[in-house]
Amino acid sequence: MTAARPPRDPWAVPDTPLLARSAHSRLAERRADQQFLDAAWAAPDSRVLLVSPSGTVAVTGSAEQPNLVLLPPQRVPQPGVRVFLGVAGGICYFALLASASAGDQSWRTLRDVGAYLTDLEVGLLTSAVALQAWHRRHPRCPRCGVQTEVAQGGWTRICPADGSEHFPRTDPAVIMLVHDGAGHCILARGPQWAAGRMSVLAGFVEAGESAEAAVAREVAEEVGIAIRDIRYAGSQPHPFPASLMLGFSARLDGDPTLRIDGSEIVEAGWFSRAEVRRTADWGAEEAEPVARLRGLPSTMSIARQLINSWLVAAD
Ligand SMILES: [Zn+2]
Repeated sequence: MTAARPPRDPWAVPDTPLLARSAHSRLAERRADQQFLDAAWAAPDSRVLLVSPSGTVAVTGSAEQPNLVLLPPQRVPQPGVRVFLGVAGGICYFALLASASAGDQSWRTLRDVGAYLTDLEVGLLTSAVALQAWHRRHPRCPRCGVQTEVAQGGWTRICPADGSEHFPRTDPAVIMLVHDGAGHCILARGPQWAAGRMSVLAGFVEAGESAEAAVAREVAEEVGIAIRDIRYAGSQPHPFPASLMLGFSARLDGDPTLRIDGSEIVEAGWFSRAEVRRTADWGAEEAEPVARLRGLPSTMSIARQLINSWLVAAD
């Protein structure tokens, strides 16, 4: 594939979050048409993306110029669940949820390669990885426990005992950049992150809760402040294993004193734009130490895109 890849500028503000890109039609209306699916699988110009049980995919090329391995169906080396991903440029694309990561290619995760893929590749891969995780984690009927059967081109599972139909789960999560309207934002560190690595606040939407209410609740729980002007800023799939990240910005309302919860968040602070700009990507060895902040989330994450957007925004 030769389509344009995203810019490498670590401070870029892409129009579309990097994992929200896509360039294929899902053609959902054809998923129930087995004759169509069989013909598409038999067509020599169709292409198949192999996904291993751990969610890795076969790639060629270098670490920063990876290309997904897309095989003709006739060359797929092993059995597995077939998923019809859709059509682009007249070519039908499938994923094969393989039982092992075989072959002589490199196997990489979406986290490894997502920022470097084309729009078409990343759109195919996010769906394939999400469906692989769902099929692996939900093989049985949640009503009666019987093994369910794959249907609709890999997009549903049906219980043969009670006929119930089950769809891939997507769990909404909110992620929010909180600023003070005076050139500072909150960055925080979870207990699993190395010292110096910080990101914006985030959390899952609870049952029966709106996304905006979840933003306000999570901010209050994690750092103990009130916010206002909660504004939606875009979303991107986060299939690790089944989230949809809903991005927001919000503004401090009242006392800026942070009271950290100590469990989900172990460290947090207000940082200026200059302090944020002096960091480098997580993992960069040459990053200049700046007090508690020495690294930001990957450019692939919506967290980084919220931070980058704030850096160039007016207060
Ligand atoms: Zn059942």
